[in-house]
Amino acid sequence: MQFPFENTYADQLTGCYTSWTGDIVPNPQIALFNHDLARELGLDAATFNSEEGARVLTGGLIPNTSKPLAMAYAGHQFGNFSPKLGDGRALLLGEIVSEDGRFDLHLKGSGKTPFSRGGDGKAVLAPVLREYIMGEAMHALNIPTTRALAACTTGQQIMRQNGPEPGAVLARIASSHLRVGTFQFFAARRETDKVRQLADYAIARHDPDLANQDDQYLQFLMRVSERQAKLLAKWMSVGFVHGVMNTDNMTISGETIDYGPCAFMDAYDPQTVFSSIDRMRRYAYGRQPQMAQWNLARLAESLLDLIAPGDPDRAIQLAGDVVNGFMAQHLQFWQTLIRRKCGLQHQDSGDRDLLADLFQLLDGANVDYTGFFRTLPDAKQTCDRFADPSEIRAWHVRWRARLQAEARAETAIFTDMDSVNPIYIPRNHMVEQTLQAATESNDLADVSTLLSVLSKPFTKRADFEEYAQPAPQGMPAYQTFCGT
Ligand code: AMP
Ligand code: MG
Repeated sequence: MQFPFENTYADQLTGCYTSWTGDIVPNPQIALFNHDLARELGLDAATFNSEEGARVLTGGLIPNTSKPLAMAYAGHQFGNFSPKLGDGRALLLGEIVSEDGRFDLHLKGSGKTPFSRGGDGKAVLAPVLREYIMGEAMHALNIPTTRALAACTTGQQIMRQNGPEPGAVLARIASSHLRVGTFQFFAARRETDKVRQLADYAIARHDPDLANQDDQYLQFLMRVSERQAKLLAKWMSVGFVHGVMNTDNMTISGETIDYGPCAFMDAYDPQTVFSSIDRMRRYAYGRQPQMAQWNLARLAESLLDLIAPGDPDRAIQLAGDVVNGFMAQHLQFWQTLIRRKCGLQHQDSGDRDLLADLFQLLDGANVDYTGFFRTLPDAKQTCDRFADPSEIRAWHVRWRARLQAEARAETAIFTDMDSVNPIYIPRNHMVEQTLQAATESNDLADVSTLLSVLSKPFTKRADFEEYAQPAPQGMPAYQTFCGT
C-alpha cells in the first residue's frame, strides 16, 4: 500500500529534530477513523483504515515514503523556561499534500524518544479520545485547530495515577507543528543560522508571499500576531479555556494545539480555570489574550537577530511595536465576533457600552454562557437564567431597541445569530460521561454519537436536548488533568 508522505521538515531542517521510530505494540487497532478529514485531505481511507494502517498509525511500521522524527523544541512552561522539551512521546511521520496545502501527520503516544525525560512516551485512551473530540468540536465551530485522523488502541496497559489504562495513540493532522518553542530552542542556544533556517521554512509554508521581502521576518512576526489575535478572539467568543498555553503549545500557524486540560466554560466567569496544576490561575479564561501576547513576546525575542541584523535597538523597537499592538488587534477581532453574537452589523456609538454592560451583568451571575447567547432573542428565557432578572430585563429592552437601528427583519438577524451562537459544545459532564463509558466498556458508540452532535453545533436537532444542557446544579467544580 502506498502511504503518500513527503518529508520537507526532515529534508530541509537537519539539526532541528532526531530521526526516530515508534514502538511496535502488541495489538494495534483503529478505534476511530476520521473519514471526513481523510476525504478532505484526498487520502485513500482504505489504505490508512486497515490492519497495515493501524501499524503505521501507532508508529511501529514505517512506510518507505516516511522519514519519521521527533521534533526539538524548548518552551516556557507556566512562565519558566525549559531549554529542552521536544517530542517526548510523539513522532512526525511526514507530510501529506492536498488541494488545501501541506499538512503534518503526527503521532502522539508512539513511545519514548530522546526527549522523553522522565516520561514513558505513551498515551492512554481517554485523553486520546478527548483530544479527538475537542479538535472536531473546534473545527465544527470554525476555529483553526489540529484534527485527529485516527485514534488507535495498542493492546497495552499503561500505568497511570489511578491504575492501568488502555494504551492508545492519536494520529493528528496540523498545517504544521512549528511552535513558538521551536524558535526558542535555537534562539536560546544563540544559533541564529538555525533560527533563520526555521523562519525561512515557516515563511515558505505559512506565508509564502513574504519570502525574500526586505522585512520578511518582521512581517512574519506580524502575521503570527494576527493569526493568534484572531484565534484568541474565537476561543473567547465560545468560552474555550485552553488550560496550558505554554510557548511550546502555541503554533505559528494559528491553529489550536494540544488539547490536554482544556475545557469549555459553563457559567461565564473570567476567573475560570479547569486544570488541576494551574494553581496560580495563570491561564484563566479571562487572561488568555494576555498570555498569548506574552508568548508572542517570546517569539519576538527569538527573532530579534533576524529582524534588524546588527542593530538590536532597532530590532527591539520594531518587534516591540508588534507585540504592543497585539491586544488592540485582538480586541478588534473579539468585538466583531461578540457583535455578531448579538446580531449587530452596523456600528453605533452606544455599542461599546451596551456590550460592556452585558458582560458586567453576566460576570458572577452563574449564567450558562453558551445557552445565554443561543436564547438571547427570547426575553423570557434570557431573564429566567438570572436569579435577579431586573437588570438583564432592562438590558434586553435596550438591546431590542438597538436592533431597530439594524434596519433588517428580526427573523434575519436571529437566523444570523443562530449561525454563530452554538447550541452544542463539548459540555464537560457529557465528555466525561462518554469517555468513562469508552474506557470501562470499550464501547465507542457514545463517542460516535457525541462526535455527530458536535459536528453540527449550530443546528438544533431533536433527540439531542440533553447535549444542550449545562452541568446539573450541584455537580462539583470540573477539574482537568494534563493528558498523560
Ligand atoms: P504537553 O503538556 O502535552 O504539551 O507536553 C509537554 C512536554 O512533555 C512535551 O515535551 C511532551 O512531549 C512531554 N510529554 C508529555 N507526556 C509525556 C509522556 N507520557 N512521556 C514522555 N514525554 C511526555
Ligand atoms: Mg505540547
